[in-house]
Amino acid sequence: MFSQTTEDLFFLIITLQSFYIFEPDWYRRNEVRQITAIYYWAIHMLIKKAPFLRQYLIKCKHCGIIFFTDPRNAGRQDIRCSFGCRQAYKKKSSKERSKDYYQTEEGKEKKKELNKRRKKSNANNQEKDYQELEVVDEKQMNNEILNYLQLVAWHIEGKRFSLKIILMKVKILLRQHSMYMLKKRVYHCSKINKQSP
Ligand SMILES: [Zn+2]
Repeated sequence: MFSQTTEDLFFLIITLQSFYIFEPDWYRRNEVRQITAIYYWAIHMLIKKAPFLRQYLIKCKHCGIIFFTDPRNAGRQDIRCSFGCRQAYKKKSSKERSKDYYQTEEGKEKKKELNKRRKKSNANNQEKDYQELEVVDEKQMNNEILNYLQLVAWHIEGKRFSLKIILMKVKILLRQHSMYMLKKRVYHCSKINKQSP
């Protein structure tokens, strides 16, 4: 269903994303640098085969990593990556929006009410609320990266796949693939590439 190129990129994107932290140099850190190099190399090989895809590659406004974007955003320089920057920015701006809201008269009333209710609930409940919040965040992050994989598959394969199929593929890949296998494959390909005239 998916070509080897798509599968390799899927695996690299998932692996890279697992190292994401909200720091501009997250993908250049020691523990991730090698994966980033393979990710860039895989993109380079893809562009060689399909040069028209270059127009959809952009740099993240926050961290600078190269990633594929929707054709509608081609050439833009104000987009954040799907590895985590977009998510982090959304979270930050919604926090700022709620800060602004709580400074209005209506917001101040609402905050008083919330505080009253919060005092009533016991410590256990608060802990539960917090845990639920964490789970939601994790789910959202996964959706963001799944949407990104869907976009990458669309660019490479030239057709749209449902998120259900993407998720299924991800599960299979994570079971089968290992970083060792991927490095071996990439090394093999780069050797062939050097030999060819
Ligand atoms: Zn980024």
